[in-house]
Amino acid sequence: MKQSIVVITGASSGIGHACAEVFAEAGSNLVLWARRSEKLHILAAELEAQHHVSVICQTVDVQDISAVQQAVAELPPSHRAPHVLINNAGLSRGLTPLHEGVFQDWEEMIDTNIKGLLYVTRSFLPEMVQKGRGLVVNIASIAGRQAYRGGNVYSATKSAVKMLSDSLQIDLNGTGVRVCNIDPGLVETEFSEVRFRGDTDRASTVYKGYQPLSGRDVAECALFAATRPPHVSIQDILITPTAQATVGLVHKDL
Ligand code: NAP
Repeated sequence: MKQSIVVITGASSGIGHACAEVFAEAGSNLVLWARRSEKLHILAAELEAQHHVSVICQTVDVQDISAVQQAVAELPPSHRAPHVLINNAGLSRGLTPLHEGVFQDWEEMIDTNIKGLLYVTRSFLPEMVQKGRGLVVNIASIAGRQAYRGGNVYSATKSAVKMLSDSLQIDLNGTGVRVCNIDPGLVETEFSEVRFRGDTDRASTVYKGYQPLSGRDVAECALFAATRPPHVSIQDILITPTAQATVGLVHKDL
């Protein structure tokens, strides 16, 4: 990965933050996106000092198509065709049954998890295709494979991500650009805090009584896919904590 360019959306926290660390350790130069730019700059300074890689931070809300396009246009030409694009930015809001759902929460999940991923992918892919190489990593979820109580719209967005990964496999066939869909189970990040709008007590109960995945566990899957030889495509990864059998069945020692 030395001297490769890796773009990571949602790098200010959790899985995206861990991807930045893992790829920097491997010698990649990074482009980091998120809305909380201060967190990006702190991470960038650490990675540049520790691993002697270059890091470009851009404050981007992936829901905003013009912000996405402008951010790509502002990159140096060499960075507009990344070796790896990690579509990780995403979120869940609430756990209410669909008949009590909040429209604004639905819009935010759909606009971020589906439309944001599309805007970012559409903006980087043409140059990757032109170069005839690269890897798109989509962070979907086990929630896109199996429904669970209150997961409704979040699950639907992650199902859409998986279908977009499958579609890209077909659309990019013959171009040399690879696609890897990663479906994580429970990962301890800010995810549940965001879902429950800052209710840290409720968020922490999600991860009690078993060992959840860390962001790094997922990031290492992305690195594995990126470091296979060019003729090898890791199309699909499902990764869960050992304690998690299905989306809803988690063995807890409480
Ligand atoms: P996290 O710690 O909350 O991180 C989410 C990241 O996405 C943050 O960096 C956040 O940055 C960014 N983000 C959210 N909305 C954004 C927007 N509109 N524009 C740009 N960046 C945005 O959660 P995480 O667990 O690492 O989540 C990463 C991905 O993994 C998500 O797609 C999530 O659905 C998926 N996932 C998580 C789990 C889990 O159990 N944690 C399981 C399966 C899949 P800013 O707030 O600074 O913008």
